[in-house]
Amino acid sequence: MNTKRVTEKEFSAWVEALIPKHTMYAPQAKEDRFAFDQLTASEDLRLDYDVSILPPKKYFLPQKEVLIKFDRRGNFESVIAHEPFVLFGVHPYDFVAMDQLNTIFEQDNYDVHYMARKEAATVVVSDVQIASADVFAGCMGNATVENRQGYDVLLTRLDDGSYVVDTRSEKGEVLTELLSSTMDADEACLLQRKQVWARNREQLQKHKLEMTPEQIPALLEKSYDHPLWAEKAELCHSCGSCNLVCPTCYCFTVEDELNWDMDTGQRYRQWDGCMLTGFATVTGNHNFRDKKAARYRHRYYRKGKYVWDMIGEIACVGCGRCISACTTNIANPVEVFNQLSEEQQ
Ligand code: SF4
Ligand code: SF4
Repeated sequence: MNTKRVTEKEFSAWVEALIPKHTMYAPQAKEDRFAFDQLTASEDLRLDYDVSILPPKKYFLPQKEVLIKFDRRGNFESVIAHEPFVLFGVHPYDFVAMDQLNTIFEQDNYDVHYMARKEAATVVVSDVQIASADVFAGCMGNATVENRQGYDVLLTRLDDGSYVVDTRSEKGEVLTELLSSTMDADEACLLQRKQVWARNREQLQKHKLEMTPEQIPALLEKSYDHPLWAEKAELCHSCGSCNLVCPTCYCFTVEDELNWDMDTGQRYRQWDGCMLTGFATVTGNHNFRDKKAARYRHRYYRKGKYVWDMIGEIACVGCGRCISACTTNIANPVEVFNQLSEEQQ
């Protein structure tokens, strides 16, 4: 593997060379915001995006996907997506979220649909160039991926506009062999990259968590009956926006659908969210979380404790999307954890 220094011009030429050879999904402007979409022209690439509307996990776990096709005679076939693609320009905190989902979908019940997409992907992480209004990944230890593995290429833009292109895998090499630059990143260049990382650790803290992320599970352990859950939930519309924009939320519902021929059909899954009123409704129309306060509390326990108990990581990476998405300003994890902590002291 190698680490190159690439000028701005060489970088654009590289992206241009990649587009005809690979199916590329990358951040692009959508009016005054940004979204991941298929990249067809290098000038549409916006690695200076602050945050994407939906996280790039949508390429591993689509909003809606067909799992099985069947007919009424009992025939069926699984639908599994194997087509290779490149996920280009993923921010570090979103990569951490995807890495968590990879573990969850691999362990216990191996999810063939998710894992096929994950295996088909080449992931190019890009260090953040502009901090979004609500990001706090720096407090969660996710401003950079310097201590993480599993991605294929890491891009860091330096202050002079050049890029450090760090190839981390054979899949990554397939992309970076199209680079025209032969200049290895020298000591000075790697030092500049470290400075970018240090700056991002500081700047991606638009909300300040008054504890280490590792202290959150113990805090929640003591907070189950805290009045905060009911107080905040009073303002909740149960709209589910905080779930839908979250890179670590992975709940889905599965349904069967018959086609108009009344013979063939498909089983599909689509995103669901624990903040929606009917999420916990089971047979007999029993809803075991019918109160807003119970749903509101569940979301924080999911982020700060339940996933921690499963994989040893906090399932809030600090992207800040839920904070921006909530119209009643009650979805800020930092605010909730800080308030719980203050009141415990
Ligand atoms: S809980 Fe909010 S800030 Fe944390 S990862 Fe999910 S959307 Fe991002
Ligand atoms: S976005 Fe806000 S109002 Fe909507 S479900 Fe989440 S907490 Fe409730």
